[in-house]
Amino acid sequence: MVRAVFLDRDGVINRLRKGAYVTSWSLFEFLPGAKEAIASLSAEYLVFIISNQSAINRGLMTESALEVIHNNMLCEIEEAGGRIEKIYYCPHRPDERCHCRKPETGLFDRASQEYEIDYSDSWFVGDFESDREVAERMGLRFILAQGDGGLKKAAEKILADGQ
Ligand SMILES: [Mg+2]
Ligand SMILES: [Zn+2]
Repeated sequence: MVRAVFLDRDGVINRLRKGAYVTSWSLFEFLPGAKEAIASLSAEYLVFIISNQSAINRGLMTESALEVIHNNMLCEIEEAGGRIEKIYYCPHRPDERCHCRKPETGLFDRASQEYEIDYSDSWFVGDFESDREVAERMGLRFILAQGDGGLKKAAEKILADGQ
């Protein structure tokens, strides 16, 4: 069994853009402290990203464009000494009623098929109350993190708690 930290992406790792989607790397802005927080977390936990990316099925971004964003993001995280084990995302719009768009649990179920995760010893960090809902469904401990320094504070809490 492994312990994991699941991170939401938008609003936790990168800055939310009011009323707009991050559809290219130039629109992706790391929040202050986020890369360093991921580096410290990934020394102790497997770190996953769990993200709703409905811009894909809204026709605003292709999957390959998202891949470019994620490759750049992972590069910068690795340069800061961090490691993301895997990124799981949902491309669907809410009206498609899929099972992977948070607060549904499909993305976590996918992680469970690939890793033996001890959910009772794992965490989810998100910036919406709906993220708390999915954490509760999965038996994960939840931390609400928003804006500058939010993930850094969350990481400090996780690392202090998990010793
Ligand atoms: Mg978010
Ligand atoms: Zn989905």
